[in-house]
Amino acid sequence: MKAEIISIGTELLLGEITDTNASYLASQLPPLGIDLLWVTQVGDNLDRLRECLERAWGRSDVVLTTGGLGPTEDDLTREAIAAMLGEELSVDPELERGLRELFSHRGFTMPESNVKQATLIPSAQAIPNPSGTAPGWWVEKGRGERGEPKILIAMPGPPSEMRHMWETDVAGRLRERLQGDVILSRTIKTLGMTEAGVAEVVKPLLSSHNPTLAVYAKTDGIHLRLTAKAKKREEAEEMIAKREIELRSLLSDIIWGSNEETLEGLVGTLLVEKGLTLATMESCSGGLLANTITDVPGSSKYFKGGLVAYTNEVKISYGVSTALIARHGAISPEVAGDMARVARERLGADIGVGITGVAGPTEDEGKPVGTVHIAIDDGRETRLALGIYPQLRHQVKRRATYHALFELRRTLVSMK
Ligand code: AMP
Ligand code: MG
Repeated sequence: MKAEIISIGTELLLGEITDTNASYLASQLPPLGIDLLWVTQVGDNLDRLRECLERAWGRSDVVLTTGGLGPTEDDLTREAIAAMLGEELSVDPELERGLRELFSHRGFTMPESNVKQATLIPSAQAIPNPSGTAPGWWVEKGRGERGEPKILIAMPGPPSEMRHMWETDVAGRLRERLQGDVILSRTIKTLGMTEAGVAEVVKPLLSSHNPTLAVYAKTDGIHLRLTAKAKKREEAEEMIAKREIELRSLLSDIIWGSNEETLEGLVGTLLVEKGLTLATMESCSGGLLANTITDVPGSSKYFKGGLVAYTNEVKISYGVSTALIARHGAISPEVAGDMARVARERLGADIGVGITGVAGPTEDEGKPVGTVHIAIDDGRETRLALGIYPQLRHQVKRRATYHALFELRRTLVSMK
């Protein structure tokens, strides 16, 4: 089954809003076994919208649109679909009654412009919209290459209404219609090697067609995405599981998680499990590590706090050794280690993390931009790590943060 998404709204073309509806729908189609082949964005213009719809209807089995179902003059999706299919719009009395009731329920009289939200064409059925005023349209007409009726589904623009309609109605109806292949994906997350390095290691697996393997560079490391296609869900799951075992044997040292897992979330879980607390002292990352740690709900259970010590004077005032700074420079493993110790001791935590480095754009102490020293001090041992990230300032900060969390996770996993 070939699908196509049309996102409707001039705001999209002006860059005022991001097309999150299309990404959401794109993520929903593979599990249904529907291949998404095109995504189009088009403004609120009847001719161009109609042109997009015509092209989509000609080449796809399922066309999904979002937006343009509102009551105002620039909401033209219904008109364009009617024009494209050569059908007449008419007000559906039942929809109109429902709409009027909705308004009177809220204590308003319905503006006459809203009547157009109660219109249908003969090939369209209304899709209820419990979270808004605009019903969607489910249109079926003609037959595709495989003899199945072609389907066009028009959903509202506001993401929450669209999702609600998708989840409670559209996805289920589509699933009933299709007995296609199931496409499943699984993401394995790594940190510590470059994208090219990872690709080299997994090279023999990259040419496989089913499951496919793709490598993506992200801020929290290199992600590997496995995608399998099969008649049944269990088959696809098994194909992915087998390939994952191979991947893990190739990359075991650097794999830290999968799918929706985050480093900060995993670190939090481990700290809770082990009943340990954490404190940080950051220089070049400017508090981003503390910020990321506290993105996790419940982090107050294990995170004592973070110090941002940007200048040497501040580092020293908190208790970092003047002698170490003088001897090795502030950007050194020795000072990172001392910062971790100070964080742990001053904030009364079990584990301290220190980060010091050069965020750029100019070098510091003769050390190149992107040099970052990380230390994890658990009171007995200090784990040190060096990162060299050839990137822009804000990226260096983010890479340093994830690298520190990665080392922290390693430390925690290896602790008894
Ligand atoms: P509309 O029904 O076209 O008037 O859209 C109503 C509102 O929904 C817009 O102002 C946006 O805030 C939002 N919206 C519309 N289309 C999208 C989209 N493709 N992605 C995310 N938000 C959207
Ligand atoms: Mg609009």
